[in-house]
Amino acid sequence: MDYLWSPWRYSYVSQVGKSDQCVFCELPKGDPAGDRESLILFRGRWNFILLNKFPYTVGHALIVPYEHLADFPRLDAERLQEMMKLAQAYQTALEAVYHPGGYNWGMNLGQAAGAGVRDHLHLHILARWVGSDNFMAVIGETRLLPEDLRSTYDKLAARFRP
Ligand SMILES: [Zn+2]
Repeated sequence: MDYLWSPWRYSYVSQVGKSDQCVFCELPKGDPAGDRESLILFRGRWNFILLNKFPYTVGHALIVPYEHLADFPRLDAERLQEMMKLAQAYQTALEAVYHPGGYNWGMNLGQAAGAGVRDHLHLHILARWVGSDNFMAVIGETRLLPEDLRSTYDKLAARFRP
């Protein structure tokens, strides 16, 4: 289980604790012109897709409802459906750009589960490669990513433009 679930622990952990504001509420309030800077890949009606600033593998993204909500059973059907649709679209984009060998996706809900941002639920999606992961090396807690975040952003964001 550690193998499967430990990747989620890296989400935004380094960013929380610096202010009382919720990062997932604040980010989409910005001008969409600044989405490349804030790493928002796509804005849906109820959810947005955000590249993880601290990726576990290349293309590690979060699908986040705009609604500030911690309790997954309270996510309404419309928001849930769009979240799943965006998960499908994001997997399709990852497939086209990186051709990974597989995917992990899931949520950490609550402190005991290792949630980085506890009060605002979010779905992690990440690509995996067979063996030692073509796109990264893991040495202890240090992850070496061969591609910078804005390059990843540009490749994947292009998949969401009409
Ligand atoms: Zn929030």
